[in-house]
Amino acid sequence: ATPMATMVGSTISAKNGVLYKGADVLEKARGIDVVVFDKTGTLTHGDMRLTDVVPVDDAVETDGPVADGGSSTSATDGGVLESPVDPVDLEADERTLLSVAASAESGSEHPLARAIVEGAEERGLDLETPTAFENVPGHGIRATIPRGEVLVGNRKLMREHGVDPSPVEATMERLEYEGKTAMLVALERDDGADREYELLGVIANADTVRESAKETVAELQARGLEVMMLTGDNERTGRAVGERLGIEPANVHAEVLPEDKADEIESIQSDGRRAIMVGDGVNDAPALTSAHVGIAIGSGTDVAIESADVTLMRDDPADVLKAMRIADATISKVR
Ligand code: ADP
Ligand code: MG
Repeated sequence: ATPMATMVGSTISAKNGVLYKGADVLEKARGIDVVVFDKTGTLTHGDMRLTDVVPVDDAVETDGPVADGGSSTSATDGGVLESPVDPVDLEADERTLLSVAASAESGSEHPLARAIVEGAEERGLDLETPTAFENVPGHGIRATIPRGEVLVGNRKLMREHGVDPSPVEATMERLEYEGKTAMLVALERDDGADREYELLGVIANADTVRESAKETVAELQARGLEVMMLTGDNERTGRAVGERLGIEPANVHAEVLPEDKADEIESIQSDGRRAIMVGDGVNDAPALTSAHVGIAIGSGTDVAIESADVTLMRDDPADVLKAMRIADATISKVR
């Protein structure tokens, strides 16, 4: 890459809200074959809201796809949802479920955790403070509150602690088909010597897709690029969101552990294809480094921005196209 190209590119791009880092980025951003997007915080706003609180008894009673247990369900509009739980009138078991989950999650900075805590506070619940807290990356959390030890997370977290998630499977799947992130909640049962957990129920958060996400995917595909999604979220949730954005199921790589995101990029590039990775999270940092070009969302974490070659100042997925166009235009002009 020529320093001239970089200078021209930086000037053009600063005006356009696209920041390039390093001398050879403009050169690298040409000849791309695949664009891989992180889901949460990249294709979506990452601005989660608590939408569903379903105690285990309600989940078991309504073993059809359309549960209607008072505030435990919310209307869907076919998009990624923004339909908060009715703020008033939580029933007793709903209140217990939510306050246990939120108390445990008050030890976490994860966006899922913050949405749960906010959801509980908006409903006027008093939260307990965890005396012990453990993050289980890609799975959930384990925390000790005065009421006992709590697990909040996915099916795998439950199974690893001997909790059978099957009583709420139908509810989990319904929520996941809606594109929501559903989480199981279990509380330690006071059972003498052995620690046993009791499944309390399911809570779910929803996120909203960024305005330009769908048209960006379509335009990338129209240019002959392959578009993929990488997420730690459940397969069904990932596919539901992918479907709304025009990303085919085969191109949605879900349930990817944080430490495996970079490996996924390497395997995508293993046949010589060049990938752009677009991400925002701490989890995405190694993948941003592994990709031919890493692009960070401007409001993303510092680690993501440091690991990326390009930063999108406006958090707009459409600026991925702009970044590629600027690279094309600048390089051809200088040559
Ligand atoms: P991503 O940021 O790509 O969505 P993570 O690796 O952070 O993925 O999380 C993957 C999954 O692990 C989540 O979808 C959720 O099921 C579970 N999980 C992670 N953190 C938490 C948390 N604090 N509380 C509950 N579940 C969690
Ligand atoms: Mg993310």
